[in-house]
Amino acid sequence: MKDIDWDSHESELKKIKGLYKISIHKLIHKWQPTNKMVQRNEKRAIHTANCTECEEVDDQLHYIKCNSEYFEDARKYAWKKFRNVMKKYKRNETMIRIMWIGIKRWVYDELEEDIPRGDEVNDEQFKALKLAYQHQGDIGWSNFIVGRFSKHWSKYYELRLKEDEEKNGKVMAFARDLVRATWKFTLSVWGSHNEKVHGKNNKYSSRNVQGIQQCIREIYDNFKHRVSTEYEWLFREEARIRCDQSVPQMIGWLESVLICLVDMQDAIEVVTKSQRLLCRMSITSIFE
Ligand SMILES: [Zn+2]
Repeated sequence: MKDIDWDSHESELKKIKGLYKISIHKLIHKWQPTNKMVQRNEKRAIHTANCTECEEVDDQLHYIKCNSEYFEDARKYAWKKFRNVMKKYKRNETMIRIMWIGIKRWVYDELEEDIPRGDEVNDEQFKALKLAYQHQGDIGWSNFIVGRFSKHWSKYYELRLKEDEEKNGKVMAFARDLVRATWKFTLSVWGSHNEKVHGKNNKYSSRNVQGIQQCIREIYDNFKHRVSTEYEWLFREEARIRCDQSVPQMIGWLESVLICLVDMQDAIEVVTKSQRLLCRMSITSIFE
């Protein structure tokens, strides 16, 4: 694991904020509310743990490897987002194509080693690309899709830069964009997963909405003045206003606030209660 480019991963992680940060944390720590997880947290087993599209269990990151047509299309669509982030790096089509091949071979458990060569790379650069591809295979493409990639991708990029003073900064910026692009890719497929599970128009029962409001008030009453400064922004609005917001907004707030409460011993009860409620409502699609 020492050959993973941790520097860019960690610095990108520090930069992101708010709900997006939470989505990324869930992704990299494998806490995404998949069907399996929702079912486990459900008192009455009304949800299936299986994937909506195939016979397999919908556990962490299943959606990224699911062989169904739906998820294949979702990945193709999501890859456009990856390319969008990386498009500022002109004439890097070969690298992007090779990454896509790597992901596809991993998804379908194909073991081929050959990779295509494009016009824009010279011998030395192609050698570097091959090395990056092999290395990523060793580290695992399952790491790539959560933004943990081989240092050799940056080494390849470095070879493509002319000698200049800002070379190091440019390589770092490239590596960080790569992290951002892979997160975008994976979260986009996750968004398709959620759309399929919940549909776009979720209806909320009034009992659940009241439950959410109750949790919000409880958290305000007991923890508003005790959270660290980093999280004070979450309490900028009054509880009354917070409880007047739309259901997805309330849920979003609750999801955010739970992260800052997990280390507080006396918050366990309200955290558990909220998590159950959120699972019951199975609302995940808003956290794309
Ligand atoms: Zn599946």
